[in-house]
This record gives sequence, structure tokens and C-alpha cells, in this order.
Amino acid sequence: MKRIEFIKSSALLAFSGSLLNFQKADTGLTNWAGNLRYHAKQVVYPTTVDELRKAVLEIKQGKALGSKHSFNTVADTTETLISTSKLNKVISLDTVKGLVWAEGGIKYGDLGLWIDQRGYAIHNLASLPHISVAGACATATHGSGGTTGNLSTAVEAIEIMKADGTLMMFDKSNPKFYGAVVNIGALGIVTKVALKVYPRFEVTQEVYENLPMSALKGNIDTIFGLGYSVSMFTHWLDQNINQLWVKKKVEGTFKPGPKTILGATAATTNLHPIKLNSPINCTDQMGVPGPWYERLPHFKMGFTPSNGAELQSEFFVPRKHAYEALLALEKLHPEVSPILFVTEIRSIAADELWLSPAYKQDVIAFHFTWKPETEKVMAVLPKVEAALKPFNYMPHWGKIFTIAPADLQSRYPKFKDFVALAKEMDPAGKWKNGFLERNIYS
Ligand SMILES: Cc1cc2nc3c(=O)[nH]c(=O)nc-3n(C[C@H](O)[C@H](O)[C@H](O)COP(=O)(O)OP(=O)(O)OC[C@H]3O[C@@H](n4cnc5c(N)ncnc54)[C@H](O)[C@@H]3O)c2cc1C
Repeated sequence: MKRIEFIKSSALLAFSGSLLNFQKADTGLTNWAGNLRYHAKQVVYPTTVDELRKAVLEIKQGKALGSKHSFNTVADTTETLISTSKLNKVISLDTVKGLVWAEGGIKYGDLGLWIDQRGYAIHNLASLPHISVAGACATATHGSGGTTGNLSTAVEAIEIMKADGTLMMFDKSNPKFYGAVVNIGALGIVTKVALKVYPRFEVTQEVYENLPMSALKGNIDTIFGLGYSVSMFTHWLDQNINQLWVKKKVEGTFKPGPKTILGATAATTNLHPIKLNSPINCTDQMGVPGPWYERLPHFKMGFTPSNGAELQSEFFVPRKHAYEALLALEKLHPEVSPILFVTEIRSIAADELWLSPAYKQDVIAFHFTWKPETEKVMAVLPKVEAALKPFNYMPHWGKIFTIAPADLQSRYPKFKDFVALAKEMDPAGKWKNGFLERNIYS
């Protein structure tokens, strides 16, 4: 290492009495999108569970930090960030029980490749493989699927380090398991998870262009039934769904889909959901079969997902209200379109997880990739949320929203049970931050 580099990196390390290095974080540590500069005084990168325990015991207050892909302050703290980026290993594959055990900081892209090489897959993935497993499960991150749940529904067991450094394992025999999986970082640091695995499978991806929104009337189930995972993208112009992405499991010999679907026509080349962006970042389309972990996400592991400089919001409504909710949002197009890169519409199956927006209901998710124009986005969001209010919408835990905490809390039948679990796991409030104070503890 050159001397200057050494001095620079040494200066980042504030030795604090243990063998752990707490790095000063006032050096501009930001989230992935760059819209949030974390307010932490320091950040630590444990590499083992023992190091993690030392860090946990040493700090007064802190927060687990995954791969930093959330857009709001859910992962922020004014004290210590505990990065899980080095707690990122596969632990074991249990082929008898059909489980893979992995550390919480592992990214889906790395985990996917590892299990695929051994003949296995997990049920679904988000639009990008770059996110950590524990961070994604904490916020109920999802892909799309008519009959598949969000990513956290793959969790069969979860181990959490509590504020006192002890480890607590939850599995499905414990009713509190269902509160512990989607945990928005309130319970402690997830050290390892067991995810259900299936035999590996291949997927094809076919994209259709220009589906009239009117074709969705009475056809929501048909559309989301077109494949294993289906997404619609719109720019909210001309009452048009610009792209319909249909991901199908390959069963036997691949047969191309129809040339047209409900008025939409099959694309003749790979496309990016944001029409002006190059599809080079996107996973292969045009019906080319590929492993599940390279087709279920829209974006490739080694490339920038989505746009980069952007903000994101996402709102869930019960699936039975999908078409009415679409019409309500469509009316806002003059205000939404100019500040939007693209909207994605997906389907998520009901689950049993207390803080999941799909708790006991099938939902449709309306996602907004906004241009990085914070003031304008914050001005239009209350209107978007007002349009969805009649449908009892719920926001994505890791994206930007404005709903009042009391309204938010009223949407979750098991909300009080979750708060009780959080207080039981963290009686002194070591993991509290502004986000939790406002949305959970208020
Ligand atoms: C380009 C892009 C595309 C996206 N696509 C999708 C999508 O397709 N579907 C979707 O639903 N969301 C999507 N998201 C949102 C993203 O999946 C969520 O914000 C997710 O929570 C990010 O995971 P992370 O590892 O970055 O977590 P972070 O943002 O780092 O943290 C999120 C929360 O998890 C907690 N946490 C992290 N690790 C641990 C741990 N080990 N133990 C306890 N708590 C922990 C943090 O404290 C925080 O509360 C996207 C985001 C981006 C930037």
C-alpha cells in the first residue's frame, strides 16, 4: 500500500478499545441512490459473529446496514451503523430439508449463483440481485408472481442478535417467527437465515409493447397468469402500458409466446423499462432461456440497475382493487409523468408475515421510479397516496412515502404484536432510529 493511501485509510479508523475498527462515517456515506447521506457518527464492518457481538456490546445505539438500497431513513442512525457487507457467506445447504443457510449480508446475486451451481433455486427475486438478503427481507422486498409471495416468504428460520449480544433463533414452530422476518431493523441484527430451496429452473423472458390500459379491465388475473412472473411498465402517457414483461418457467422445449396479447405486440429487440435507457443492463429477453437468477431480476448483477440517479416509491393495494386503483392513478398523469422515469405494476401473493403488505391478502404493487427531483416528488406523493386511500394502500417500507403514522399502523392487523415483539427483543431501544420512532413507536 502506498504511504499516502495508508495514512488516508488509517485516518478513517477510530480505534475504540476493541479489536474492531469503527470507521468515522462523516466521510459522506450515502445510500445507493445518493439521496440520503447517513447521519451516523461511525460505521463498523464485522467479519464474524464474534466481531459483531463485540460491536453490538460496545455501542449505545445503532442500526444494521445492508447493501444500502433503501430510499428512506429506515437504515439510518445518528450513532453507529453496523454494516453486514462482510457477513456475507453461504453457511450450508441442507438438501434433506431443502434449505440453504446463509449470513444476512449475502447478496441475492451471490447466493443465487452458489445454489444454482448445486442444482437449486429460490422461488423469486426482486428487480435487482444486488441487495442483501436480510435487508430485503426486513422491508418485505418482492418481485412479481401470480402465486408467489415476496422474498421474505422463502425464510424458514431466522437468527437475530439482540442488543445484549445473545442470539435468538425463530422458526415456524414459534408464532413470533411471523413477526421477526419482516422486521424493518427493529429487532436486532439478522446473523443468518434459512431459505427454502427448489430444484433449479430455467426461465425465459418475453416483452410486449403497448398494452392499452383499458385491456386490463376484468383481465388482471389473466395478465398476471401469463407467466411465472409478470410486470407491467407505464409512463402514464396515452393510457398505455408501455411494456409487459412475461417471465415463464421453461418446461420441456421452449415455445415462443403469441405475437400479440390483448392488443400488445411482441418486442423485436431487448428493451429497458425506461424507454430511453440502453437494455445492456437488463437480463436477456427475446425468449432466450437462462438460469432463474439471471431472468427473474430485470437487471444484471454486474451492471447498474434501474437508472441510478433516482428516487423510488411503491404502494400496495388489495389485488381485487387493481383496476380501480390504476384508473385513480391515471388521473394524476399530468403531474406524475414529467417527474417520472417509469412505473412498474406487479402482483404479490398473500402471506402470514405481520408487517408484510401482503399479510393475508393478495396485493398489486404500483411502483414509481422518480427522477431525482426531491421537492417535486414530495409535492406529488401526497396526491398519489390520496388517490390510493380508498383502497387502503400500504407503502413499501424501504421507499419514500408520506402516509401519517397512525394511518400506516392501522393497516396492519398485527401491528401491536409487532411493537410488543420489538420491545421484548430490544427493551432499551438500541435499534431505535428516527424512522422507527415516527412510524412504529409513535
Ligand atoms: C435500483 C433498486 C431496485 C429495487 N427493486 C426493488 C424491487 O424489485 N422490489 C422491492 O420490493 N424493492 C426494491 N428495491 C428496494 C430494496 O429492495 C429495499 O429497500 C431493500 O430493503 C434493500 O435491501 P438492503 O440490503 O439494501 O437494505 P438496507 O437499505 O441497507 O436496509 C434496509 C433495512 O433492513 C435493515 N437491515 C439490513 N440488514 C439487516 C440485518 N442483517 N439485520 C437486521 N436488519 C437489517 C436495515 O436496518 C434497514 O432497516 C429496490 C431498490 C433499488 C435501489
